[in-house]
Amino acid sequence: MHAIEQISINGEWVTPQGTERFDLFNPATGEVTGQVRLANEADALKAIAAAKAAFPAWSQTSRDERIAALMRMRDALEACQPVLLQAIVQEYGAPASRANWMARYPVSVIDEAINALKAFEFESVVGQARVVMTPLGVAGLITPWNSNAGFICGKLAAALATGCTAVVKPSEMSALQTHIVTHALHQAQLPPGVFNIVTGRGEVVGKVLSRHPDVAKISFTGSTATGKAILRNAADTFKRVTLELGGKSPTIILEDADLADAVPLAIQAGFMNSGQACIAGTRILVPVSRKAECEAALAQAVTAVKSGDPRDPATEVGPMVSEKQWQRVQSYIRLGQQEGARLLAGGEGRAAGEERGWSVRPTLFSNVQNTMRIAQEEIFGPVLSVIAYQDEAEAIAIANDTDYGLSALVLGRDPARAHRVAGQITAGRVLVNTLAHEAAAPFGGFKHSGIGREMGRWGLAAFMEPKSIVM
Ligand code: NAD
Repeated sequence: MHAIEQISINGEWVTPQGTERFDLFNPATGEVTGQVRLANEADALKAIAAAKAAFPAWSQTSRDERIAALMRMRDALEACQPVLLQAIVQEYGAPASRANWMARYPVSVIDEAINALKAFEFESVVGQARVVMTPLGVAGLITPWNSNAGFICGKLAAALATGCTAVVKPSEMSALQTHIVTHALHQAQLPPGVFNIVTGRGEVVGKVLSRHPDVAKISFTGSTATGKAILRNAADTFKRVTLELGGKSPTIILEDADLADAVPLAIQAGFMNSGQACIAGTRILVPVSRKAECEAALAQAVTAVKSGDPRDPATEVGPMVSEKQWQRVQSYIRLGQQEGARLLAGGEGRAAGEERGWSVRPTLFSNVQNTMRIAQEEIFGPVLSVIAYQDEAEAIAIANDTDYGLSALVLGRDPARAHRVAGQITAGRVLVNTLAHEAAAPFGGFKHSGIGREMGRWGLAAFMEPKSIVM
C-alpha cells in the first residue's frame, strides 16, 4: 500500500495542513492500492507565496542558466523512467506499449522545451521599439489524470523556460506518478520556490490558484466543464489562461483510401490510450459508396482488438481509470443503442475473462447520425461511431459539425485531395495518413477544445507578455 503523505513547497517535502485522504486504485483489479493526503487552501496559499518569492531572481536568470536547469530536470526524469512505468501501469491501467511511451514522455517534452528555449527570440526590434518578451510571474499548472506525469513536466518545463515560477496542481487520481516526478524534480536542484507541487482537490487547490491575485497565469489541461469554471474564476484578476480541453475528433476515410492502410490507423487513433485521450478519433466518417466495405473492415478490426489486463503485453486497450469512468462508458454504450445506432462490435459489460476491475469491450457503432449524443459528446472510452457521408463537402461539414476542434485524421491515397480536405477542417491539428506527432508544432484546440497553444515557441510565448520599449 502506498501512503503519500507529503507535498512539495519551496523545494522541500512538507506535510500538508489538509488532512483528507483520497484512495488510489488499481484499475485492472479495482483494489485500493494506497492513499494520498490532500492539500487544502492554506497549503495552496503557502505554495503561491513561495513561487512569488522565487520569481524576481528566477526571472532574471540567463537563458543558459535555465537551459542548464531544464537539463538537470530532464536527466533526473530519465533516471526514474522504470519506476514511473510501473506506476503508470498500476495506477492508470495503461497497456504496456502505451505505458512505455507515457513513461518516456516527460523527458521528450522537456527536451522539446529546451529546443524551443534555445531558439526563442526574447528580443526583437520593430521600428523605433525594442520588443522584449517578459515572463508573466507565478503560473498555476493544473493537470488531468490521463497523462499526469507528462503534462506536469510539459507545463513546468515551458513555464520555467520563460522565467516564470510555478505551482502545480496535479490530478489527485494519479498521485503515485506525481510523487515520482516530484522526487526527480528535487534531484534537479532548482532554486527553492521555483516549482511547488500541491496535490489536492480541484475545487479546493485548483480554485485558489484560479482566483488568487498573485497568480498571473493558469495553464490547464482537462475537461471542457472545468475549463469553463477556471475561465470564470480567473476573470476577476484578468489572468492569462491557456486551456487544453476535450475533443470529439473526426477520422475521415476518403473515397480513394486503401482500407488495408486506413483501417489500422483509424482504429489506433480511436483507441489511443484506451480511448481516454482528448485527441482520440472517435467519429469515423466513411463514404456512402464504400459504407459496407468500410464497416466490415472496421468491425473485424475492432473485434480483434485485445482488451483487458494492462500487464499482458498483448493487451491493446486497458481498463478505464476508475469505476466512475467505467459506468460512464457503459451508459454511453446503452445510449447509443437507445438512439438507434447499430452495434457492430463490443457492447456493454466487461471484456471476456476480466471479471474484476474496469475493463471495457472495444465498441463500434454504425448507422450513427452526427446529431446523436454519442457523436457529439466526449465519451472518453473505446467507443467509436461510424458516420456515412455522400461527398467530400458533406464529409467536411460533418467533421466540423461539433462544438470541439482539437484534432482530425484524414486518410486517402491522393495527397492533393487529402490536403485539400485537411485545410478545411476546423481543428488545432490535422494528421494526414499518419499518427506521427510533431512535438515542435503548436498543440491546442479551436472552439470548445480550448484557448491558446502549447509546445514549441507558441508554448513558451503563452507564459510571457510582449513589452515595447520605444526609443
Ligand atoms: P477534469 O477537468 O475533471 O480535471 C482536470 C484537473 O482539474 C484535475 O487536476 C482536477 O482536480 C482539476 N479541477 C477540477 N475542478 C477544478 C476547478 N473548479 N478549478 C480548478 N481545477 C479544477 O478532467 P479529467 O477528468 O482529469 O481529465 C479528462 C479530461 O481532460 C477530458 O475531457 C479530456 O479530453 C481532457 N484532456 C485534454 C487534453 C488536451 O490537451 N486538450 C489532454 C488530456 C485530457
